[in-house]
Amino acid sequence: MSTVHIHPAVDDGIPPGDPGFQGGTLTCRCASNPVTVQITGQVSYNHVCGCTKCWKPAGSLFSQVAVVGSDHVKVAANGDKLQVVDPATTIGRHACRECGVHMYGRIENREHPFYGLDFVHTELSREPGWAPPEFAAFVSSIIESGARPENMGAVRARLNELGLPPYDALSPPLMDAISTHVAKSRGLLQDA
Ligand SMILES: [Zn+2]
Ligand SMILES: [Zn+2]
Repeated sequence: MSTVHIHPAVDDGIPPGDPGFQGGTLTCRCASNPVTVQITGQVSYNHVCGCTKCWKPAGSLFSQVAVVGSDHVKVAANGDKLQVVDPATTIGRHACRECGVHMYGRIENREHPFYGLDFVHTELSREPGWAPPEFAAFVSSIIESGARPENMGAVRARLNELGLPPYDALSPPLMDAISTHVAKSRGLLQDA
């Protein structure tokens, strides 16, 4: 087995998604009165992320984060324990005040390309069948969290081995979606 640990959800191989998956419940790590968030439906663009903002399990180089429509995300229990980690960031990451786990990230800016989408960590659910991670985003950023620059070759090699192509921003389809939104909002691009 590789000595490079990317994230507990992928280190031992990535379980396949279930095409008929209907969603599940995310639970924070509090032993009592956990926050639970209900997701109705499958997630998309699941990936591992090296940025310094996403929630990572202890000792993990990357987070695992996916996208789902905000209307499919509902706080089911103990929502009074949630608070936004940093109100200044684009994505309002709603975290449990007691255990620190991020339960969902939401964009409030209606002009943002990803408005209407929430960011969630499917590993917080016990249900199998979530869409598996497809790529690695913001790989170079793990250095900002203390990863050794000289190990980056090994990290990228391991990501490729796992079938998670490494990118230093988001994946090309997501970068294209952002630029398409910007071009349309400037009147430079019409729907085909
Ligand atoms: Zn908690
Ligand atoms: Zn991130």
